[in-house]
Amino acid sequence: MNNEGEILNIFRQRGALLEGHFLLSSGLHSPMYLQCALVLQYPDLATELCFKLGAQFRTEKFDFVIAPALGGIIVAQEVAKSLGVRAMFAERVDGKLTLRRGFSISAGEKGLVVEDVITTGGSTKETMRVVTDAGGTVAAVGSLIDRSGGTSDFGVPFKALVTLAIDTYQPKECPLCKKGIPTVKPGSRNLNKV
Ligand SMILES: [Zn+2]
Repeated sequence: MNNEGEILNIFRQRGALLEGHFLLSSGLHSPMYLQCALVLQYPDLATELCFKLGAQFRTEKFDFVIAPALGGIIVAQEVAKSLGVRAMFAERVDGKLTLRRGFSISAGEKGLVVEDVITTGGSTKETMRVVTDAGGTVAAVGSLIDRSGGTSDFGVPFKALVTLAIDTYQPKECPLCKKGIPTVKPGSRNLNKV
């Protein structure tokens, strides 16, 4: 597991990266579907991938790692383990990411925000705000997969194990629809692994 291709193969083998014609929950169509949980359900793979991500941040000293729930929780846990710091998560309360469960950040503490997948970066930025609102600082952002094609900018160093540009289309403009290929809803049982 040393380069992007090998990591992507792990995702393909576990059915976490599918190619076809997908109807996403957003209503958009895409030729690719990514579900990190299907890889992270294997604890040994979760550790290996997250330690690899954590290794990219060893030159910096962090006080904690934090992720938005739910997808990022395992990543925060494993990356924090690799760095020897504590792991926290922010969760939605009335739609807004919040620190709960007694999690706290002391003034001046330095955090690393992690995700399983970064798509638009919206929840990443929201998690960064949770940290700064609590008096901490965000020194870097990391993600197992950056599906924005490298266009995400968080104003701090950002590293991902794999960078993908995954197209999404409005149904009316979808080239796969134009070819008459039927859509598949991810999560349904009739998905064929690639
Ligand atoms: Zn389509």
